[in-house]
Amino acid sequence: MRIGILGGGITGLSLAQLLKDKFEVDVLEEKLVPGGIARTKNVNGIAYHVVGGHCFNSKHQDVLDFVFNQILPKENWNKINRNSSILFKGNEIGYPIEYSLKEIFQFDKQLAINITADFLNSIDDQKYDNLEEWFIKKFGLTLSNEYFIPYNTKIWNKHPKNMDPSWVKDTLPTPDKVSFFEGLIGNSKDNMPHAEFYYPKSNNQNTFIDALANGLNIIYNTKIETIIKSDKWIINNQYKYDLIISTLPLNILPTLLKNIPENILNSASKLKYNRVSNGLWESEMTNKTWTYLPEKENLFHRYIHIGSFFDPQKGYTITETIGDHTISEISKDGENDPFLKNLLDHNTSEHAYVVFDENYKDCTESVKNYLNEIGINSIGRFGEWQYYNMDVCIKQSIDLSKKLIADYIVKQ
Ligand SMILES: Cc1cc2nc3c(=O)[nH]c(=O)nc-3n(C[C@H](O)[C@H](O)[C@H](O)COP(=O)(O)OP(=O)(O)OC[C@H]3O[C@@H](n4cnc5c(N)ncnc54)[C@H](O)[C@@H]3O)c2cc1C
Repeated sequence: MRIGILGGGITGLSLAQLLKDKFEVDVLEEKLVPGGIARTKNVNGIAYHVVGGHCFNSKHQDVLDFVFNQILPKENWNKINRNSSILFKGNEIGYPIEYSLKEIFQFDKQLAINITADFLNSIDDQKYDNLEEWFIKKFGLTLSNEYFIPYNTKIWNKHPKNMDPSWVKDTLPTPDKVSFFEGLIGNSKDNMPHAEFYYPKSNNQNTFIDALANGLNIIYNTKIETIIKSDKWIINNQYKYDLIISTLPLNILPTLLKNIPENILNSASKLKYNRVSNGLWESEMTNKTWTYLPEKENLFHRYIHIGSFFDPQKGYTITETIGDHTISEISKDGENDPFLKNLLDHNTSEHAYVVFDENYKDCTESVKNYLNEIGINSIGRFGEWQYYNMDVCIKQSIDLSKKLIADYIVKQ
């Protein structure tokens, strides 16, 4: 049986690795290299993550086993402690903010008292009409208004009251009142996903990506433009498969198929996403791994101190901004912060973050149900239109590979 995997990002590559010994598998990829949005570009010998700054870890043991036992052994990775900060009202404080009340108290006593009182008095009835309500019920009014709502308005380019809260559940760990109180008396610890993370010892994420692509039949430079179903699936009138699995963005996939009902195309067209504009900077050295910038006065919402992922550490930082921003806008905003020295490169991505707006639930459901009916599996960050990290993409590939092997090999 021949399987065509559409897209050679982390999802498509993992799935191909997991299926290649049981089926004939091709990966069709538009670009000349594997890895999708996780791929880095070499700039002056530095791995520039043109989209984000990809560190790896997982709470899923099967993902860790797959990566370390089948793809890139653990001895090829450095383990790094997350050390993040927030630039909050002109002060650098620890991340996550809810454990940094002592630092806030140093510069604004009343604010620290209000955050604490609101947090401890907040009532979470687990019913949320929108993301704004979710923040207020989880963190109290003051912390929501002063930090979570401005920061999230910035990173989604949309006010949280116009967003669906479903995505935050597994993404943003929320402290209960006991752990918040422990934070106040100094016993807290960072339980965030990626509190510790792995980065390849080569100082380049591409080492992992290339290992993931090793031994696969990847057909590069192949932009998928048409998908036709006859007795087989025919891609671009050229490649024929018994089964296809797509990792292409869910808003685009339906437009490549023939005879799609109008309502499905309409749902696909309502799926919203954000681009992201990054700059790679020579910067001062820091032991921080990320710095968050919630205030609207800063164009950037996050610094990824990529030089701290390297061993030995180096002075390089990636600035991240939602939407399309030119190199001169990035350069100009960076001039306000002496920490950033010299802008080396710049990139604006296509898909970076899906937007969980009011159409999200109905429109993703209608497109996914249709694809299911016609027998196309659509997986991955944009294939499922989700806020997935690399490890969740790999997890989805592991689960789908098990299902396909059970359906087509074990039962035959
Ligand atoms: C800013 C940012 C920071 C991030 N940081 C982290 C992090 O620190 N750690 C982490 O684990 N995850 C991180 N992630 C998430 C991670 O990048 C994704 O989960 C993962 O890379 C998605 O892989 P994918 O294969 O599903 O999608 P993609 O990488 O988008 O792969 C899809 C592939 O399909 C190809 N393609 C698209 N259209 C066509 C077409 N028509 N024809 C042929 N090929 C096509 C693309 O070229 C691409 O290679 C971050 C994401 C962002 C946006």
